[in-house]
Amino acid sequence: MRVRVLGSAAGGGFPQWNCGCPNCRGVRDGAIRAAPRTQESVAVSADGEAWFLLNASPEIRVQIESFAALHPRGPRDSPIAGILLTNGDLDHCLGLLSLRETYPLTVYATDRVRHGFTDDNILYRTLERFDGQVTWRVLKLGREEELAGPAGKPSGLAVEAVALPGKPPLHLHGRFPPDREDNVGFRIRERATGRLLAYLSGVAAVTPAVFDALDGAACVFFDGTFWSNDELIALGLGSQRAADMAHLPVGGPGGSLAGLADHRAGRRIYIHVNNTNPILRDDSPERAAVEAQGWTVAHDGMEIEL
Ligand SMILES: [Zn+2]
Repeated sequence: MRVRVLGSAAGGGFPQWNCGCPNCRGVRDGAIRAAPRTQESVAVSADGEAWFLLNASPEIRVQIESFAALHPRGPRDSPIAGILLTNGDLDHCLGLLSLRETYPLTVYATDRVRHGFTDDNILYRTLERFDGQVTWRVLKLGREEELAGPAGKPSGLAVEAVALPGKPPLHLHGRFPPDREDNVGFRIRERATGRLLAYLSGVAAVTPAVFDALDGAACVFFDGTFWSNDELIALGLGSQRAADMAHLPVGGPGGSLAGLADHRAGRRIYIHVNNTNPILRDDSPERAAVEAQGWTVAHDGMEIEL
């Protein structure tokens, strides 16, 4: 299985357009050792021909252009055989609307995420201009689903959606009661080898369900949004704690680094990293702490062969 990180930042990206925090200022000025990052999206493929995007970020156009394997091979063509959505956050879905140039799309999502995106959304009509423009494949929790390649042929990959502690997207708060299908992770299995990628980019707590989702994975991507619970408050950027936004911080006694200390996988990678997080700086003590535990921090363009 080939895995390519197209974008590794949380919503807003790094730097974020309206942010003057030390990290965002530093990366603009070149005053810190850190690379800019686009918003979270990862491409996976079993054969290097048919690719699947995990989430469709607002920066999808530059992300596709950044990776030659995703470029068209004909006058109207895309190697992107499907797009999988972990939740309805705009930084995971908005890219769908950018793929409106009269081309059929296949989107894998839970029923909740589908309805959250399509219901009462006048802009979604741009993806309903012809029959079959978007084919939705419903992901049921705990049921493995084949990922179809071109012309419905097997792609060599299958996915299982697992419910993760989380929240519905901000713009749907109060619209529906919270539901287990609001926020999922993926267990993506390569048929030929059985190798497993666990993709958990939004996680509010380490629970037994999280350990189940990680079980047997050769490679794990995990929520690296914040280092500490009060990161935004301490920087004067807002009043919300990480917990209010359903993101378990990386650091601290209750953080994911400590909570997953006993978990072993071939590769363990933090992704969906917010621009305020000190692990973005190559020479920070927080980065060193993460690496000392065997984790790495995703960067745009990172490639993994499983
Ligand atoms: Zn910032």
